Amino acid sequence: MTYLLNDPADFAVDALRGYAAAHPEHVMLAHGGVVRSTDTPVNQPALVIGGGSGHYPAFAGWVGPGLAHGAPCGNIFSSPSASQVYSVARSAENGGGVLLGFGNYAGDVLHFGQAAEKLRAEGVDVRIIRVSDDIASGPAESHRDRRGIAGDLVVFKIAGAAIAAGADLDEAERVAWKANDATRSFGVAFEGCTLPGAGEALFHVPDGEMAIGLGIHGEPGIREVPLGTAAEVADLLLDGVLEEEPERSGAYSGRVAVVLNGLGAVKYEELFVVYARVAEQLAAKGFTVVAPEVGEHVTSLNMAGLSLSIVFLDDELEEYWLAPADAPAFRRAAAGLPSGPPRTEVHTPGEDPIPEASAESKESAALIVQVLELLRDTAAEHEEHFGRLDAVAGDGDHGQGMAYGTRGAAAGGRDAADKGAGARTVLLHAGDAWAEEAGGTSGALWGAALTAAGGVFDDARAVEAPAIADALAAGIDAVVRLGGARPGDKTMVDAALPFRDALAAEFASTADLAGSVKKAAAVAREAAEATAGITSRRGRSRILGEKSLGTPDPGAYSFSVLMDALGNFLGSPGSFTELRSETSPDKQ
Ligand code: ADP
Ligand code: MG
Repeated sequence: MTYLLNDPADFAVDALRGYAAAHPEHVMLAHGGVVRSTDTPVNQPALVIGGGSGHYPAFAGWVGPGLAHGAPCGNIFSSPSASQVYSVARSAENGGGVLLGFGNYAGDVLHFGQAAEKLRAEGVDVRIIRVSDDIASGPAESHRDRRGIAGDLVVFKIAGAAIAAGADLDEAERVAWKANDATRSFGVAFEGCTLPGAGEALFHVPDGEMAIGLGIHGEPGIREVPLGTAAEVADLLLDGVLEEEPERSGAYSGRVAVVLNGLGAVKYEELFVVYARVAEQLAAKGFTVVAPEVGEHVTSLNMAGLSLSIVFLDDELEEYWLAPADAPAFRRAAAGLPSGPPRTEVHTPGEDPIPEASAESKESAALIVQVLELLRDTAAEHEEHFGRLDAVAGDGDHGQGMAYGTRGAAAGGRDAADKGAGARTVLLHAGDAWAEEAGGTSGALWGAALTAAGGVFDDARAVEAPAIADALAAGIDAVVRLGGARPGDKTMVDAALPFRDALAAEFASTADLAGSVKKAAAVAREAAEATAGITSRRGRSRILGEKSLGTPDPGAYSFSVLMDALGNFLGSPGSFTELRSETSPDKQ
């Protein structure tokens, strides 16, 4: 759907006016299109590219130094008229002749051809480059008869660079055809696009299927196949274009430019997911990728689909592909690559060296891993419930956050312990992993809590009951420090502070750690439930604060659940509590 328009009939013209208004440094309006707002240098060939509207950035977005000189823009998906092409070309031409470029479609061939006739009749030298990169639209033997899709970008970029480097019209024409002959594209679509003002998409692809060999004017694909994973789609596109790879010898050695193009409704993130696989496969097949482009380049309104273009480069094509350009929708810096030696290393979590630990501390570390695994199992058990609480006034992800976080912490802790870490280091690693895996507010706070708790332990000694009580308090203090929430803000702090105070009091009088934690957990549960009576003043749910009335705070509630599990663990045989008799104050 196109949501914003005035009169649907004026959509393309209105869009062009706005585009020109947004980029006065680059372009100005001409009849039926735009030209550079600076004169074409005398005797420089003018590259005039175009086609229908509805494909932005193609074609108007590519007018500027190092790229095109002008772009006639037809109505949505229909060729500019001959008179529009003529006007734009006339405006751009300055003694060097005109190279007209467009995707190979019947309407464009006719209208651009007719404009060329008129210009020639007036003594202007005109050449034509018809881009024909789409392998789905015809056999390899007649590559130049295929239709043009996202290959438009590379062909025009390369031709524009040749012109900027001083090519005359003969030379510009030769380079443009060479680029076209070296470019192959292949696409798939998941859903057709809807013309502005229309109520229905031009075509539909059945759910769970994709159409192979899309066009960029709402032409459906040539056949429908089951929709695969992103990696399968990547492989399909790649296998298609690589079928026509020339032999690697002489000028071509496996260096390629790559354009992964979104048609309008595919997210950049999705494109990157696909590109990750494309890059990996190209590397595995011995290709070297030169300045890949992943994004929207030749769109088709809101069409859901993507295409992959590969340019088999020789030195000349590569030089022009890499040359600077400065158009509103395509910029390449002159010597823009950062200088300095290439970086060989980045920090990887979990790969920091593990400090030496004593046997006693390692024994405690093993128990800490058991605790983390228990928290993991507990969070998994309550995942749905935590999520439901968060869905009332938050975003519903608290169950997932806790499940991911505890899973990460358990795995991170176990990994460190396996590498010989002591109690402190295991908990520090677990804290990092929790925050890393959970994301979200609660993930960051719990990660900080584990880290702070770990700081109380050390790698030389066994963990003893008083240290556990201190570690719990330190973790809670870290949450308060980092999160800045105050009692009554309706956060986990409302359960954690009463827990901390109850634990301190109980442990001081009984010296029974497990019992104290159990008791404090019950206090925390009650406090968490009491948060149902207040409205949120912190975190995501503050926005919908009133809505949270009647539901306990998810973070407070999950805190009480995990502390209860911890109490159970501490009270079980084989836990830290066995250490208690030697180390804790005598309770008799
Ligand atoms: P997100 O809010 O990022 O979606 P979660 O849903 O996992 O993260 O966690 C929500 C919980 O985080 C809340 O219920 C609340 O207990 C806790 N929280 C949010 N902000 C704070 C804060 N500043 N201090 C302490 N806890 C907070
Ligand atoms: Mg949430």
